Amino acid sequence: MIKIPISKTHQEKIRKGYPWVFHYQILDKTVQGKAGDLGVIYNSRNKFLAIGLYDPFSDVRLRIIKTGTPEEIDAAFFAGRLQKALTIRLSLEGGGTTGYRVIHGENDGFPGLVLDRYGDTGVLKLYTAAWLPYLESLLALFEDKLPLARCVLRLSRNARSPAEENSSFREGQVLYGPPLTSSVRFKENDLLFEADVFHGQKTGFFLDQRDNRQHIRILARDKSVLNVFSYTGGFSVYALAGGCRSVVEIDASPYALATSQRILELNFPKKRLKSGDVRQLQGDAFQLLKELEDKNEQFDLVILDPPAFAIKKQQKAKALAAYRRLAEAGARLTQNGGLLFAASCSAHVSRDEFFRAVHAGVEASGKHCEEDSRTGHAIDHPIAFKEGEYLKGIYLRID
Ligand code: SAH
Repeated sequence: MIKIPISKTHQEKIRKGYPWVFHYQILDKTVQGKAGDLGVIYNSRNKFLAIGLYDPFSDVRLRIIKTGTPEEIDAAFFAGRLQKALTIRLSLEGGGTTGYRVIHGENDGFPGLVLDRYGDTGVLKLYTAAWLPYLESLLALFEDKLPLARCVLRLSRNARSPAEENSSFREGQVLYGPPLTSSVRFKENDLLFEADVFHGQKTGFFLDQRDNRQHIRILARDKSVLNVFSYTGGFSVYALAGGCRSVVEIDASPYALATSQRILELNFPKKRLKSGDVRQLQGDAFQLLKELEDKNEQFDLVILDPPAFAIKKQQKAKALAAYRRLAEAGARLTQNGGLLFAASCSAHVSRDEFFRAVHAGVEASGKHCEEDSRTGHAIDHPIAFKEGEYLKGIYLRID
């Protein structure tokens, strides 16, 4: 076990639930350890404060796994944590959903580890090499407790080379169960979806937007819908299921649009899709929105769900400007009396900052708006600490 000395202010943050110690925050620069070693933090009275997983390959040097009282970090400990995570998600399957996040990293007490379920396939994504020494024990637990026929491993960039150099685990490896050569199928609110768990974004699908998609389904009846940054068509499928009149999808990726087309065909008869109800536009969203505006097109329901514009803290100002420009373009294309839904998944942009940027954008378009609602995380993406809150959405009625 390694002793990790940190400042008193940082100790206080950790006591309240902040889960990270960055490299530069360790006061003793001679501290060394292997990936997965346990690191202990004592408070200034030399009492146990927290224990975490050490990772020499990551700027986040220690990820806290337990605060308050000491506990053995073993298979029984992980089993308890998994059970708790499963209990939170019990209601999902009853609702016709077999694709959801089983473990949401820090927020479920597994820092730097995500486990998504897509039907009978699990995708384990490790953001730190610190989990590699515990992997065999975790897999035994998953095989025992989860309804998964197989589990696929995905490794973030900083976990990949330590895994390749020091273990037999590899990016894209099927950890247990039969080999996998194609996309996996799953259900969300009784609608059919596919995820490419090897090459798709995140672990293959944006599971975190499920509740917003369901909301769009309810709002979509008889509406013309514009789905900007449509990826594999999640919002489009729900809009059509809700009885919308038409959908226009915009995405830069031809691969995403082709996947969306396939998923739409899984859910609806070809006739419904061919009669001009679904149109796809491939290219830069900002440019295409301008072109739609030049053609005087208008929509009843506009969805703006872009990628994270601020991946780093330094990109925040630029991101806010982009959210504002996007909301402006979206509002211009929204019919008077129509709805605009805007979302942000940038952790570095706060809820208030995002909502203000969207309002400013709508104002700049010369239109008025009234707020319908604000949304956040679905139940399989719990929030256990302030920085864990990244997803925000806002529904605006445009006039
Ligand atoms: N709304 C989607 C998730 C969006 S992910 C869902 O519910 O599943 C972000 C998408 O934006 C990706 O598909 C990516 O290809 C696309 N994208 C990124 N930059 C873009 C740009 N400038 N113009 C259009 N699409 C873009």
